[in-house]
Amino acid sequence: MEKKTVRDVDVHGKRVLVRVDFNVPISNGVVTDNSRVKAALPTIEYLINHGAKVILMSHLGRPKGVEDKLRLDPVAQTLADVLGKEVEKVDETIGPEAKEAVDKMKSGDVLLLENLRFDEREKKNDPEFAKELAGLADVYVDDAFGASHRAHASIVGVARYIPAVAGFLLEKEVDTLESLLKNPKRPLVAVLGGSKVSDKIGVIDKFLDIVDSLLIGGGMCFTFLKAQGYNIGKSLLEEDKIDYCRDAIKKAQEKNVNMYLPSDIVIAQEISPDTEARVVSVGSISDGWMGLDIGPDTISVYRGVVRGGRTIFWNGPMGVFEIDQFSRGTEEIAKAIVEATQAGATSVVGGGDSIAALKKYHLEEKVSFVSTGGGASLELLEGKQLPGVEVLLA
Ligand code: ADP
Ligand code: MG
Repeated sequence: MEKKTVRDVDVHGKRVLVRVDFNVPISNGVVTDNSRVKAALPTIEYLINHGAKVILMSHLGRPKGVEDKLRLDPVAQTLADVLGKEVEKVDETIGPEAKEAVDKMKSGDVLLLENLRFDEREKKNDPEFAKELAGLADVYVDDAFGASHRAHASIVGVARYIPAVAGFLLEKEVDTLESLLKNPKRPLVAVLGGSKVSDKIGVIDKFLDIVDSLLIGGGMCFTFLKAQGYNIGKSLLEEDKIDYCRDAIKKAQEKNVNMYLPSDIVIAQEISPDTEARVVSVGSISDGWMGLDIGPDTISVYRGVVRGGRTIFWNGPMGVFEIDQFSRGTEEIAKAIVEATQAGATSVVGGGDSIAALKKYHLEEKVSFVSTGGGASLELLEGKQLPGVEVLLA
């Protein structure tokens, strides 16, 4: 990465303000998945070990003003548990209470500020709010990769007032995703699925320039199939993206990208666990039925391509994996990615639902890299500069 990191600044005895992504799922006051907290540990532990006063800040959910159920207290508890160390929590982001807590800190102490989005000025990148935040510290560290595509006060604004550097998670994310674009081991295989074509257009465009094979599944494949003239029944369709899909298919041919679309589909009349499901060829989807997973022939072709890859990127489930009878495509592709990884390929998985699928099959430890940022990963792969990265010291 061409930006300075925590390694490049003297943090000893300094107040270091770290933006983390602790936007975690909470149920009945308990954090139900601590992976994002764990992902920030390398930076936090480095800072503690180098004698910094560690001031952490994050957003959680989408509060309108102060909402008690979106306070960060459960997150502070989870962090204390995984860190094996006391974590102090204050009930505000800026203000006298926060200042006083910071003043009392000693080297190696950890403090967590309140949910940044309780203040509406956070999302507006308000300069006054950013200045107040920056006023709490001597150095700023961005380790919130998943939020770094947003020009918010805690991501972009603070960097204007104090020296700003990257944390280890941010560095690892940017390095991994950029090396996928720049010098991947070939063949480079991308597997794209999920619900919408429109969410992934930037990535499809970029991948058409760089990948060897592009496998399309999930809800988005039906707009492609429609563009090829198939009847898709009541499958997910983005009418206004049919032309785009037709062009993408043509572009793939021109650029010698092997683009794969499903040859068979699991269909049903409704999205439910006990409705009747059938496997049909793509040409035989009847009116009133919808495609909810890729079929067995498609799985077998896709598995072969994935296992032949030396770099594999996956974003977007192959079907409605939340329901067992539509989950086979996603599970089999995930397993093929793991097999390829065990045979020496580099695999990168991004996207909230794709990661949830990996977790469901207990495979998240078996791929090379799981990107913690959904939107941020996609924007980076599209070749965009992330606002949060751009403002860091070079
Ligand atoms: P990610 O979060 O990994 O980027 P998306 O949010 O784009 O993935 O898409 C995930 C969602 O797509 C899942 O909830 C899944 O149920 C849905 N999905 C996948 N295939 C289909 C399909 N054929 N029809 C409707 N929804 C689908
Ligand atoms: Mg999603």
